[in-house]
Amino acid sequence: MEGFMQSFWMYAYFAAAFATVFSIKWLSHPSTARRGVIIGEIGFTLAILGTLLRLEAVPNQYIAILIAIAIGAMIGAPMAKLMPMTSVPQFTALSHAFGALAAALVGTAEYYIAAEPPHGFTVVALIIEVLLGFLTFTASLMAFGKLQGLVPSPPITYKGQNFVNLTFLACGIVLGIWPMIATAPIWVFPAFTVIALIFGVMFILPIGGGDMPTVIALLNSFAGASACAMGFTLGNHLLIIAGALNAASGFILSMIMCKAMNRSFTNVLFGAFGQAQEKSGTKSEARPVHSASAEDAAMMMLNAQKVIIVPGYGMAVAQAQHKVRELADQLIKRDIDVQFAIHPVAGRMPGHMNVLLAEADISYDRLHEMEDINNDFGEADVALVIGANDVVNPAARHDKTSPIYGMPILDVDKAKHVMVIKRSMNAGFAGIENELYHDDKTLMLFGDAKGMVAEIVKEIGAQSPTS
Ligand code: NDP
Repeated sequence: MEGFMQSFWMYAYFAAAFATVFSIKWLSHPSTARRGVIIGEIGFTLAILGTLLRLEAVPNQYIAILIAIAIGAMIGAPMAKLMPMTSVPQFTALSHAFGALAAALVGTAEYYIAAEPPHGFTVVALIIEVLLGFLTFTASLMAFGKLQGLVPSPPITYKGQNFVNLTFLACGIVLGIWPMIATAPIWVFPAFTVIALIFGVMFILPIGGGDMPTVIALLNSFAGASACAMGFTLGNHLLIIAGALNAASGFILSMIMCKAMNRSFTNVLFGAFGQAQEKSGTKSEARPVHSASAEDAAMMMLNAQKVIIVPGYGMAVAQAQHKVRELADQLIKRDIDVQFAIHPVAGRMPGHMNVLLAEADISYDRLHEMEDINNDFGEADVALVIGANDVVNPAARHDKTSPIYGMPILDVDKAKHVMVIKRSMNAGFAGIENELYHDDKTLMLFGDAKGMVAEIVKEIGAQSPTS
């Protein structure tokens, strides 16, 4: 028994590593996401228990560790409970910030308290851990500030900025390499950490607030790489596995987001996209639009056989998902085929729409990714766009001057009739006009998404399902 307890941490780490792999796999689809969260939680609990029982890792420190866990839980649990869905990106940024800070502080402690000065591969891993950890800490805090409106959202740029940033980073790397090849003076390591902290801020300044979700996915990857390097420094295999998985999945996610927006990494990181948006967002097309009422919309949908609903950022802002479910239920009750079309970057974070619609208990079978449903718009009688804008803008297909040219879009303009719920003719994230609104077959339903959908539901409810 004693032998088992002594080696328990190894079994716990082994199971935790598997749990992390399955968690990431299951989190990739809404129907298995809950299972993914649960297995991830089990994995992390095992990892913590294993570490606590690995006596040589934490001699006589249990009280301090339990106090730290209690403080963390007291901050984390209310945050998770009270945070609105639309604020998930900024809270993800905060959690990356603290994860990365933890890795950087462990690295700093290792540097100073190691019995012998670290050398060889250990010092390489340690420098990567500290550089990425501190850089990610301040960059994530900046990303949080931009999304929360605490830091100005538009890109802050100046001439020669990329050169200054790269020179600064190069200085940090030189200082980081110094202890690897020679005994470094006492000021080198503190200077290196300060440069890493400042570089995090400089890295985020030229990026617009709207690009923060993509940047956050990249910072997630940096935090994972830092934790992976920490695993090498401490000789902890679980950290190496979990950190590497985190780094790879964060990087893949940011690539998927760039692809869905038809933008390159360099354009997101150095393109100062928000400035272009504001300029182009000010022009307004003079062509007329056709507006309609909730009653018109209800009648049109009652006469349809197939309705495709396209949710976007506005649905999230209005928290209209439950009303949208009621609308779908009413139509389905009347034998109307209702499907949902989800664009990969609809909303402001990957999976934003899936999470909201799943929260409202809309069946996963009705949620379709863009590639799977785009061909069906031609057969739809009505495409109902709720608070989406850029992801349905046909300019992406043909207007080479448009900032979203080349971005794959949902082909709602192929439906027989299009209805768009939004509050005004204001632009979306990319700050550009949407020619869809001026199409002869498009009806604009001006109003808040939740209120307008509620009105349509009321109108439809007033009609007997059999009439
Ligand atoms: P958009 O940001 O293009 O448009 C949202 C529309 O919602 C606005 O035009 C706005 O119009 C309307 N709206 C806002 N509030 C309400 C409300 N209360 N009721 C009704 N309508 C409302 O959203 P999309 O989802 O179409 O596109 C997402 C954009 O975000 C894309 O450009 C994408 O590239 C970008 N992006 C997405 C990321 C992701 O991971 N999902 C990450 C980074 C960027 P009005 O003010 O007139 O109501």
